[in-house]
Amino acid sequence: MRQPEPEPQSFDRVLSSMCTEPHSDARAAAERFLATNPGDPATYDAVADLEARAVEGLATLADHPDPENAAGYVTSGGTEANIQAVRSARNRHRESGGTRGGPEINVVAPESAHFSFTKAAEVLGVELRTVPLDDDYRADPNAVAAAVDDATALVVGVAGSTEYGRVDPIPELAAIAEEAGARFHVDAAWGGFVLPFTDHAWSFADAPVDTLTIDPHKFGQAPVPAGGLLAREDAALDALAIDTPYLETRSQATLTGTRSGAGVAGAAAAMDALWPDGYREAAARAADDADWLADQLADRGYDVVDPELPLVAADVPEPTFAALRDAGWKVSRTGTGELRVVCMPHVTRSALRAFLDDLDRIRR
Ligand SMILES: *Cc1c(COP(=O)(O)O)cnc(C)c1O
Repeated sequence: MRQPEPEPQSFDRVLSSMCTEPHSDARAAAERFLATNPGDPATYDAVADLEARAVEGLATLADHPDPENAAGYVTSGGTEANIQAVRSARNRHRESGGTRGGPEINVVAPESAHFSFTKAAEVLGVELRTVPLDDDYRADPNAVAAAVDDATALVVGVAGSTEYGRVDPIPELAAIAEEAGARFHVDAAWGGFVLPFTDHAWSFADAPVDTLTIDPHKFGQAPVPAGGLLAREDAALDALAIDTPYLETRSQATLTGTRSGAGVAGAAAAMDALWPDGYREAAARAADDADWLADQLADRGYDVVDPELPLVAADVPEPTFAALRDAGWKVSRTGTGELRVVCMPHVTRSALRAFLDDLDRIRR
């Protein structure tokens, strides 16, 4: 029997997701390139050209010294980009003779690092050393400096943390990595499309960053799956390349084999449509909304973590949180239980007003 056509959820009450409604051009481009495979560029050359355009766009956002020739690719998401950054650093550390036969290679990251680094460490057989944050949820450079040693292949800084939207002191962390002979990676998976419009130091222009994660399928308003990995030098990607006997192209640096051309085409189209003015406007509106929501929650007596990027965390009691979920609000909590609202482009001021109306009703 024919079932009714299933409908995806509406974005109306989605307040904690880092994904959003894709731009209409990006949606159309994704559909057009759905049956292409950028993993085989000699066969699917049109999508390979689009990938080069997308990488140039991402590199422009991240102030890469040479955007037109930047090394990088459109990943399946931030997770793949982070895994590949760890893998590249591990391989390069080994090649340079570091810790051969010696201690296990390690990666030093702040406690705020995304859980994809735990996956990376497990898959790649490296030790993940997480170090404590300062009292404003940023990586503490002293703690990072104390954790690195000769077996450190990579230091990670987060530019827009998943829980609190914090930006680590990127130049300081880069200096620590350099001193330790380690590579330096910036995870701007979520923050990368907002940070160009702030005065935070986070990009290739701000520090000697080796690799950087920046996801079009988050604030970039591209459809899933579209993450991004960028590298300062080709060598970082070369360290990932393996031979591909049955393809016309010699080698492949991606983690996935066959992958969706939809992500690549969607990312290129979103950046064509929105960089820079559309993204600037989205970032400004999101920042205003986050500040407004933070004030509204503080007025109601909640402890609010001051939003640095458009992400608001507030200490809302568990029964209130549960009632908001019951009312249909897709909200989530930080590791320590705070309510978390991510002001993505689909989150409007009127949705936030409706959310607060429900909160007030629940509190009565
Ligand atoms: C979302 C996110 C990731 C993971 O990206 P996926 O696209 O979900 O794989 C990694 N790092 C940060 C900072 C993120 O916000």
